[in-house]
Amino acid sequence: MDKGLLVPDEITNGIVKERLAQPDCSGGFLLDGYPRTLAQAEALDGMLSSLGKSLDHVINLKVDRGLLLARLTGRRICKSCGATYHVMFNPPKQEGVCDKCGGELYQRSDDTEEKVGTRLDEYLNKTAPLLDFYAKKGILHEVNGEQDIQTVTAEIHALLRGQA
Ligand SMILES: [Zn+2]
Repeated sequence: MDKGLLVPDEITNGIVKERLAQPDCSGGFLLDGYPRTLAQAEALDGMLSSLGKSLDHVINLKVDRGLLLARLTGRRICKSCGATYHVMFNPPKQEGVCDKCGGELYQRSDDTEEKVGTRLDEYLNKTAPLLDFYAKKGILHEVNGEQDIQTVTAEIHALLRGQA
């Protein structure tokens, strides 16, 4: 998974099913990053109905593709000590130079715009049908994920309380 390889659906679905059957899920549960494909979503429906459960809400955090790319391609790593930086969120004091040891910062080949763009488009293509699937069930909500963390959190809380 570190290499961005996808785990087969049967394995992922099996892990989720086992987890959902545990007692601490009886009062409710939250799935983050699952399902990611239509096949997983359909399998999830089957598991939930066999457990006598159903989904109340699906939340899609919307972030512009260009902004996602900027977030995902901004990582820089020190050649000497391995310290990590982000050009937007955690920039070094001097561009391209490690604050800790003065080493040279580089971008991993996996983090280039071309590679990240390909992975991102694959992800978006796979997950797009899920939005339709849940919209038709009337449980899809969209939240603007470009807002600050407190605002996003407050909007999600309001949704879950049924106030939005
Ligand atoms: Zn360093």
